Amino acid sequence: MDVSWIPGDVDALVVALVAALAIGGAIVGIARRSRGSSAPVDEAPVQTAPVQASPPETAPQERAPADEALEPLRSDIFVETPVAPVPDELFEHPESTASRFARLRGRLGATLSGVLGRTTMAADDYDALEEALLLADVGTAATDVILAGVKSRLAAQPELAPRDALRSALIEALDTDADRSLALGAPGEGAARSVIVVGVNGVGKTTTVGKLARVMVADGFSVLLGAADTFRAAAADQLETWGARVGVPVERSERDGADPASVAFAAAERAVGDSSDVLMIDTAGRLQNKQGLMDELGKIVRVVGKVVPRAEVLLVLDATTGQNGLSQARVFAQATDVTGIVLTKLDGSAKGGIVIAVQRELGVPVKFVGLGEGADDLAPFDPAGFVDSLIGDE
Ligand code: GDP
Repeated sequence: MDVSWIPGDVDALVVALVAALAIGGAIVGIARRSRGSSAPVDEAPVQTAPVQASPPETAPQERAPADEALEPLRSDIFVETPVAPVPDELFEHPESTASRFARLRGRLGATLSGVLGRTTMAADDYDALEEALLLADVGTAATDVILAGVKSRLAAQPELAPRDALRSALIEALDTDADRSLALGAPGEGAARSVIVVGVNGVGKTTTVGKLARVMVADGFSVLLGAADTFRAAAADQLETWGARVGVPVERSERDGADPASVAFAAAERAVGDSSDVLMIDTAGRLQNKQGLMDELGKIVRVVGKVVPRAEVLLVLDATTGQNGLSQARVFAQATDVTGIVLTKLDGSAKGGIVIAVQRELGVPVKFVGLGEGADDLAPFDPAGFVDSLIGDE
C-alpha cells in the first residue's frame, strides 16, 4: 500500500502550522507544539483505513530523529497515574496569608491624614501629630519616641516629606528586627511542640486557637487541640467546631469544671502518642480571682512542658480595650513566660497604636492580628504593612 503521501502532507502541514503560529510570536515553543500536533494526523489514517499497511510502525522511523525526542514525553503524558477521588466540596480552602493581611490596609482609620499632607512641619503640626498618636493608643512613652524620631529625621534631611519621616519613625518604634514567627519546626516532623494561648475572657482566645489551627493545617502541620478552658462548657464545643472544619482533633474533658491542668496534660500525652506536630492549648481567662487564675496558668505551662517542649505562650489581647488591655497584659506576662502577642479585633478599632504600646510595655512582639470574626480573619503581623495601613495612602 502506498503511504508515501503521509510524510509529504505532514511536512506541508507542519510548515503551514509553523507559519501560521509564528505570526503570533513564540516561534520556538510553537514549533514544538506543531510537531506534537502532527501525531493525530499520522494516526488518523490508521484508524479510519484499517486495510492499509500499518503506518504507526513505519512513520516513527521515517520521522526520526526529530520525533525520537518526543517519544518519552508522549509516553509520560499518557501514563495513567492513580488519582484518588477528592470530594472537594467537603473541604474548606483557607485564604492565603498575604490575602488576609492585605485587607488590614484598607481598614484602619487615616487618623493622621491631616498632618501627613504637609510639606513641612510647624510647631502646631507636631502638636496635632502628638494628639493623633495618643488618640490611636500609641501611649505617651512611645509617642515621645516617635515625635523625636520624626524631628531628628527632618532635621537631618529637611527635604524629606513629613509622611516619610513619620513612616520611618513608626516602623522603627515597632522593632522590625523582632522574630514574629512561631517556633514550630517543620511540618511533618511529628515531634510535638506546644502553643499555649492565654488571655482574659472574651478577648478571642478560642477563636484565635481555631483560626491558628487553620493556618497551621494549611501550612502542612498536624495539630491537636487541648480544651483546657473547663469553666466554660461551650468553649470545648466551640473548639471542636473549629477543629472539625479542618480535621483537627480536640482533647477535652466531658466534665465541666475538670482540672484544666489535667486536661492539658492528657492532651500533651496524646500529642506525643499521635506524633502531632503542634499541640495548641486553649485556656480559661476568668480574672475574678486573679491569683488563682495565674497559678493555674503557670501550672498548665509547667505540666505541658514536662511532656512536650514549649514553642510559644501566646497572649491574646483585645485591641479595643486600649490601656485596660495593657494592664491585663502585665499580669499575664508576670505569670507566664509570654513569647508573643495576638492582638484581636483590630477591625473594630481605629486605634491600631496599641500594637506599639503593648510591644514596648512587654518587650514581646505582636505575632498575629485578628481582623474579624471570620475563619480566615487572622494575619501575621507585618510592621511595614501595618504602618502603611495606619497612616493611609498618600
Ligand atoms: P475567649 O473567651 O477569649 O475564648 O473569646 P472567644 O474566642 O469566645 O471570642 C469572643 C468574641 O470575640 C467572639 O464573638 C468572637 O467571634 C469575637 N472575636 C474574636 N476575634 C475577633 C476579631 O479579630 N475581630 C472581631 N471583630 N471579633 C473577634
